[in-house]
Amino acid sequence: MVQPRHHPGFYFTHANDYPIRTMRMSRLLSKTTKSVPADADSANAKFLLQGGFVRQEAAGVYSWLPLGFRVLRKVENIIREEIDALGAQEILMPALEPKDPWVTTGRWDTVDVLFKVKSQTGKEYALGATHEEIVTPLVASFVRSYHDLPVAVYQIQTKFRDELRAKSGVLRGREFGMKDLYSFHRTQDDLESFYQKALEAYLKVFARCGLDTKVVEASGGSFTKKFSHEFQVVTPAGEDLILACPSCAFAQNAEISSLKAGDACPQCGAHLGQVKGIEAGNIFDLGKKFSEAFKLEFTDDDGSRKTVLMGCYGIGTTRLVGTIVEASHDERGIIWPKSVAPYHVSLVSLMPKDDATRERVLETSESLVRDLETQGVEVLWDDRADVSPGEKFADADLLGMPLRLVVSEKSLKEDSVEWKLRSSKDSKLVKQQDIVEEAKNFVTER
Ligand code: ATP
Ligand code: MG
Repeated sequence: MVQPRHHPGFYFTHANDYPIRTMRMSRLLSKTTKSVPADADSANAKFLLQGGFVRQEAAGVYSWLPLGFRVLRKVENIIREEIDALGAQEILMPALEPKDPWVTTGRWDTVDVLFKVKSQTGKEYALGATHEEIVTPLVASFVRSYHDLPVAVYQIQTKFRDELRAKSGVLRGREFGMKDLYSFHRTQDDLESFYQKALEAYLKVFARCGLDTKVVEASGGSFTKKFSHEFQVVTPAGEDLILACPSCAFAQNAEISSLKAGDACPQCGAHLGQVKGIEAGNIFDLGKKFSEAFKLEFTDDDGSRKTVLMGCYGIGTTRLVGTIVEASHDERGIIWPKSVAPYHVSLVSLMPKDDATRERVLETSESLVRDLETQGVEVLWDDRADVSPGEKFADADLLGMPLRLVVSEKSLKEDSVEWKLRSSKDSKLVKQQDIVEEAKNFVTER
């Protein structure tokens, strides 16, 4: 048995006290498992559970474990950057929503997925399924005149919905993460220009997550707009049927559509095809629906009182993690895009039986870890002593870090480290003196 060694790759660093980037697999809370969970009905359910990214607590209810939580945080931060760039202000609204505003909008009795809870005092609440009922009165308490518009606020928060069927792993949960953005406008033109910017920001978010999305027309338009828009990731694992034109950008959710597969595209005349997709996000022109209910008005420059126009924009953050897995995996496991991978590198140390050689493997690995860390490369270090090479490689493939580096007796003989991308079958040897620079370049290049 190799003794755990004192190494900075645990908790905090030696000298400068910043949280280190390396995680040692011998210390990692979660473990991988070979057994496929019985109800794993999709690639994301299978691999996220087998890899120990999440743990299922009940149907549609998950704990996010260290590796999965890092992915979720990275996804959230990509969203945060792009939504901040729209000029929206981040807030946090309560998950426990009082009943009254839900009665005001009439949705207390019409939203079938609303979880309702009763206090011992008799007061009733909804567990936050969405936040128009909170955000509209909240913004109304600050907006007086046209000077206060436009304004946009968003949050990244846990939502609760009593879905009839929770399924496909984290794609449809009863508790799930969402980024919800709400915008408030003086004129329809202003709303539409923000809507367009939000649409572009969404495309950037999904592209940065390594996803190719289709902008799809869907029901839920407003008085002035016929359609809302969904951002669909085309994959057979999707629940939604989409009519998509093979030769132009036209796409419509089949559920609302008066068209069917084979019909002529209303934009270019080509025959429409049909594909399946996962709805990763959507955007709505809400018009005056909520602002009228809560009398969200402003004084315009001519002194008249007008109703504020609203838009709302959602992205499922936890669903997005599952969607990335659906879009990027093979039969062995996940292939994380660099931008959201829990760590950039899986460093696999193969421990020879012979003490002296093992010591050299460990020393080389440790100094490599330290140098990679210094260069900002995030490392998951497979330092486990009593796990076979085959199992280590299988775990590296399952967990899906973009780059695998191997230090072994064989690589030491060549003064090298073995380099292999998760997305490729080929490996090569890179000289020890070059490895940190190459890894850093790999991590920083787009
Ligand atoms: P769906 O048609 O899939 O039920 P929705 O139209 O109810 O979605 P919204 O209420 O607009 O979705 O929520 C915004 C986003 O939140 C969706 O685009 C989706 O990415 C995500 N989302 C919605 N419901 C769930 C759920 N049960 N589990 C995980 N994510 C969800
Ligand atoms: Mg729904």
